[in-house]
Amino acid sequence: MKLLEERILKDGVLKDGGILKVDSFLNHQMDIGLLQEIGKEFRRLFPENITRILTIEASGIGIATIAAQYFDNIPVVFAKKSMSKNLDGDLLTSKVISYTKGLEFDIFVEKKFLSPDDNILIIDDFLANGQALNGLIDLVNGSGANLVGCGIVIEKGFQDGGQIIREKGVHLESLAIVEDPKDGKLCFREQ
Ligand code: 5GP
Repeated sequence: MKLLEERILKDGVLKDGGILKVDSFLNHQMDIGLLQEIGKEFRRLFPENITRILTIEASGIGIATIAAQYFDNIPVVFAKKSMSKNLDGDLLTSKVISYTKGLEFDIFVEKKFLSPDDNILIIDDFLANGQALNGLIDLVNGSGANLVGCGIVIEKGFQDGGQIIREKGVHLESLAIVEDPKDGKLCFREQ
């Protein structure tokens, strides 16, 4: 997605350890006009009948919520990263190792929010090693729902996640795929 690639080049900051900071428009401050274009692009790439969007707190929520408006305002469900007294029904759970924090944690969704009749689109901000996406796919599989596909805003093509998920046969669409930064320069995979 050209608009997104241009924005990453303009405002993205490459940090040590292959971390790309896009906090001025995507996951701290959010550019709503850009998120609307991202939502439209996900709709174009996933024209199927989708009944729910699944994401993970916190950064996925804003992206998924705006995208949902282009999918007839379907509900957005987000996996929680910590247990709370508010989670009182039957739960679906999976384990994720955080790329940015280096910690393993459980993720939870109440069973009643993912049903076997659902057609699910998973949305998240980044794909690096595929841990978060694998955990979310696990939740969908545990619910018996149909996984239509996964929409990612920025995939880091120099990490394994994209290959692992595509090899599972999952329909994965990433709006920008960042290649291994040479001499600290960002470039994108042709799609
Ligand atoms: P994965 O689980 O695929 O290894 O990493 C994906 C998760 O880690 C995303 O949900 C995202 O929040 C975070 N993440 C991974 N790489 C980056 C990065 O380069 N920049 C930012 N801002 N977040 C990242």
